Amino acid sequence: MMTYPSFHPPIRTLMGPGPSDINPRVLAAMSRPIIGHLDPAFVGMMDQMKVLLQYAFQTENELTLPVSAPGSAGMETCFANLVEPGDEVVVCINGVFGMRMKENVIRCGGTPIVVEEEWGQPVDPQKLENTLASHPDARLVAFVHAETSTGVCSDVKTLTQVAHARNCLVIVDTVTGLGGSEVRVDDWGVDAIYSGTQKCLSCTPGLSPVSFSPRAVERIRNRKHPVQSWFLDLNLIMGYWGSGNAKRAYHHTAPINALYALHETLVLLREEGLEEAWERHRHHHEALKAGLEAMGLSLLVDEPHRLPQLNAVRVPNGVDEAAVRTQLLERYGLEIGAGLGPLAGKIWRIGLMGFGCNQKNVLLCLHALEAVLT
Ligand code: PLP
Repeated sequence: MMTYPSFHPPIRTLMGPGPSDINPRVLAAMSRPIIGHLDPAFVGMMDQMKVLLQYAFQTENELTLPVSAPGSAGMETCFANLVEPGDEVVVCINGVFGMRMKENVIRCGGTPIVVEEEWGQPVDPQKLENTLASHPDARLVAFVHAETSTGVCSDVKTLTQVAHARNCLVIVDTVTGLGGSEVRVDDWGVDAIYSGTQKCLSCTPGLSPVSFSPRAVERIRNRKHPVQSWFLDLNLIMGYWGSGNAKRAYHHTAPINALYALHETLVLLREEGLEEAWERHRHHHEALKAGLEAMGLSLLVDEPHRLPQLNAVRVPNGVDEAAVRTQLLERYGLEIGAGLGPLAGKIWRIGLMGFGCNQKNVLLCLHALEAVLT
């Protein structure tokens, strides 16, 4: 009979659009012994996790938890619970992930109204305002805070104010934002927000922290139609993630060891401090940018809208961008990302995310790129 060796991945430095490198403390937490997902010790850990996630999101929202599936499931959780058949939803598209939001609206039976931006530009609040003015029945506005496909950051606070002035709730994608740049759910008045664990939180992929405001919860509780997805129906998930001493009811088997990892990730974030983590991302981004510019390379996104954690770098004329990435991987074990959609072949995406956002990685990346390009 055929036998197979165990899988041992090669050593890499991950500086693409995610996943990012994981702190050994988080990997160690994941290998701790499994216990039952209704064990009182586990439930106690879940309670702590909620508080830690509230800190990461800067919110007191009671409904704050990690969905047991990747960022795409966090996205679907927001749309499946907040969109009802026939709802008009304004979706702002300035990259790949806004396009996915539109697809979600359609699949929930809603009607998407699109505010389109050039890729590499942030969402324009004035365009949103104009669109809302001509669609008075819209109930929701959705946009991406940190667009991973372009490295652009949109102004969540202003967009949310514009939406609220027209009586719309907002859904925000901060899969790449959380832990890497400023996110203030309560101060900004965000109603529903989702993230991912594999970007600036530097945890194992496959979990999606989400948070819902009391207004969003009220809308979910008062839906006319049941949520089409059983697994993502928050009315049911709330029974498992419940609050305080409420008895937890089985909903699905939680990804127990992955949740140990997320807990440790959040403990680390708390130890560093959220604002300190944002500042670390900004600091190393500045160093990377200076080195890239010294090599004659330029960034796609205009200065005030750049994400420090996702650097979209223009590929110089005549350079085979895929060959460069292959060389980086083969010679330096370094992964960077390619461009997507209209930016395919035109940019590289260099991630400085979470644990991987450090001086050593900045220097490795600059040295390796220079060696490969000359
Ligand atoms: N939204 C954004 C902005 C992302 O960058 C990603 C993943 O890269 C997703 C959503 C989807 O997350 P996942 O791949 O974990 O499903």
